Amino acid sequence: MKIAVAKGDGIGPEIMDAVLGIFNAAGVPLEYEFVDMGKWVFDKGYSNGMTPEAQQAIETLGILFKGPMETPKGKGVKSVNVTARKTWNTYANKRVFQTLHGVDTVFSKAGIPIDVTIVRENIEDTYGGIEHMLTHDVALSRRFITRPGSEQVIRYAFEMAKKKGARRITCGHKANIMKITDGLFLEVFYKVAEEYPDLKADDVIVDDLCMKLVTRPDSFDVVVLTNLQGDIVSDLCAGLVGGLGFAPSANIGDHICIFEAVHGTAPDITGKNIANPTALLLSGIAMLRHLGFMESAANIENALLYTLESGIHTGDFGDKSIPSVNTTEFANAIIANIGKLPAHGAKPVLPNMPMTPTHFKLEKNPMLESAEMAGEQIVGVDIFLESNEQPTDLANKLLQHTGILFKLVTISNRGTQVWPKGSVFTNLVNQYRCRFESEDDSPLTQIDVLELYKRVMSEYKVCSLELLNMWEGKKAYSLAQGQ
Ligand code: NAD
Repeated sequence: MKIAVAKGDGIGPEIMDAVLGIFNAAGVPLEYEFVDMGKWVFDKGYSNGMTPEAQQAIETLGILFKGPMETPKGKGVKSVNVTARKTWNTYANKRVFQTLHGVDTVFSKAGIPIDVTIVRENIEDTYGGIEHMLTHDVALSRRFITRPGSEQVIRYAFEMAKKKGARRITCGHKANIMKITDGLFLEVFYKVAEEYPDLKADDVIVDDLCMKLVTRPDSFDVVVLTNLQGDIVSDLCAGLVGGLGFAPSANIGDHICIFEAVHGTAPDITGKNIANPTALLLSGIAMLRHLGFMESAANIENALLYTLESGIHTGDFGDKSIPSVNTTEFANAIIANIGKLPAHGAKPVLPNMPMTPTHFKLEKNPMLESAEMAGEQIVGVDIFLESNEQPTDLANKLLQHTGILFKLVTISNRGTQVWPKGSVFTNLVNQYRCRFESEDDSPLTQIDVLELYKRVMSEYKVCSLELLNMWEGKKAYSLAQGQ
């Protein structure tokens, strides 16, 4: 079987050479096609950080094993790491955090074992990078959470939890504040949970989750989260087991999967041959299991665990009274330990189940769409406009523009209602959200909204607007704080 390999920038080539050396010594039956991705590819003028040949090879082979890559600063280019995950729709980012004997942490010293798998949504949320300055003082980031996107990652998390024999699956969220976006993620979580009655499914608000992860990490098993919250929580979990040097990551999609370490290019130690290759090696071991090479995966992981247990370490971790080894020496120690079993947590050698490589040929972009809800109606509009007036002065002017179809319901500033009721203690910025609803609750058309927009813009700069929809008699928008 052949996979695509990109060595990456900074310490990437050093740690990738170390890992592939271990793979070869363990007799991993893989062939590698080395592809051009990373900073030096940006520098050659490829604006997405990869050559067309690299893109074609990855789309044909379906598996990319990659080292960390640098995003050139100040050139207006997007991170090739994020581009790769989004372009190929690797919707689930799976990160496994386990106690490693030989890697001392406060928990290992207290005898508290950790085995937490974080599944982070990988495409949506604020990572769309859709951001605008609405006025010179006000920036806006759009946060998309979609039903089909949530379903893809949540379904993956449940399937993975079931295969792993997990006891509990938890949804981390902030649906108490973001009732529509995180509310949708949570709704999909419990809908999918109905299909897995044997798994204990529950949810925890993300701030409480962080507190509980650091006080009782052993009470969690699989945790699924939206993109940004998942990013933060997974780094917290990396800290629980010894830091970024031990944090592997698998980006899972239906057609293409990407395996990489969580850490970056470590420019401060590049070229010194002192980087710790463990996170990339753990990512490679996860890739071998994904491909069905169970025997090689267990043999290499046991050799790694044995090596860590014996106290051999690179400079970034371990017992400081034992001199550290460099990257090559660390890899050679693992190679010498292939066939040995660690005293703690030895992995069982399961039978191989190599998957048949599937070469997907897609003619069209897949459209993810759930069934449309009945009774969709426009019942109003939120107009976001620039103004530095006091709320009552603004309202008095807007009331002149409502016409016969609309009523002005509320005005808010940074999400807090300031009209018809409010407090003079609320600080204002020069951008208001003005909510107009249908005067007699009858449905409106987009033309009605456009006519209102024209009247309002005769007096104000309109920054943006959002339609207010009702679906099946339910409001599909949030209320302003205090409304
Ligand atoms: P970093 O992870 O590269 O480094 C943070 C600290 O951790 C540094 O002190 C570094 O020396 C240390 N470190 C990281 N990996 C290590 C290892 N394997 N062994 C020993 N020490 C290690 O984070 P950064 O400095 O914020 O980012 C540097 C570059 O990496 C940036 O250009 C960033 O965009 C990129 N980056 C890429 C990825 C990726 O490819 N997936 C992820 C994160 C950052």
